[in-house]
Amino acid sequence: MSDLPPPLTLDPARTAIFLDFDGTLAEIVEDPTKASCPPQVLACLQNLYSACGGALAVVSGRAIAQLDDFLGPARLPLAGIHGLERRTADGRRETPVIDAAAVTKLSAQASAFVEGHKELLCEFKIGGVAIHYRKRPDLQFEVLRFGELLAEDHPSFRLIRGKMVVELAFGHHDKGGAIQAFMSEKPFAGRQPVFAGDDVTDEDGLRRVGQLGGIGIKIGPGPSSAAFRLASPRQLWAWLLAVEQDWSASKAAGPALEQAAAG
Ligand SMILES: [Mg+2]
Repeated sequence: MSDLPPPLTLDPARTAIFLDFDGTLAEIVEDPTKASCPPQVLACLQNLYSACGGALAVVSGRAIAQLDDFLGPARLPLAGIHGLERRTADGRRETPVIDAAAVTKLSAQASAFVEGHKELLCEFKIGGVAIHYRKRPDLQFEVLRFGELLAEDHPSFRLIRGKMVVELAFGHHDKGGAIQAFMSEKPFAGRQPVFAGDDVTDEDGLRRVGQLGGIGIKIGPGPSSAAFRLASPRQLWAWLLAVEQDWSASKAAGPALEQAAAG
């Protein structure tokens, strides 16, 4: 893997950008409800989205409603809950049928577990539940064991291990599938995908963009199938701002090049 950022010779007409949220666009914080993205990065995302004709999507483990709160007022194409739900480039919502009774039971079991352990945090999602142990890293194995037992109890749910979080999600969706789905639709289709992500759950997406001839960028330390690495969300912000500058410069240079060719 190269520690150098990927080259800035991306063509806005031929590039599709996919970005994870937590640990990638936003720094990881103790309380997941307090995550945020600086205003200049939000503006940059909006500009990149416009420059590449709308071929920019955020692909996250969070729910779409939450992502909209963090990324507003922009309404970007989104994949939420690891691809379980998706908002396409034309604003269409894709939400699969979920076993609501099973989610309710699972949520109750997770609530009871969290109540018995101080400072664990339960996050209820459309298709499952996540238990965050960021404030109690000493409980990692206990939380994981509980997650495994829940998964055995609920075979239609998948156990997902993230950074300081164990999650049960309905069905077998992953970020690779979400990226693939976007890549089969306008305006993503036919472009070279770029995907940046920090966590184990991003590896499905990083592998998929590799298979599609795209560029994978791992954020932070840890093993990855990505070809490139940036050390932190801050480095990604700088890289995105540089791409934005590059794209606005190339737009400005456009007419001059045409003139030169005509002359
Ligand atoms: Mg992440």
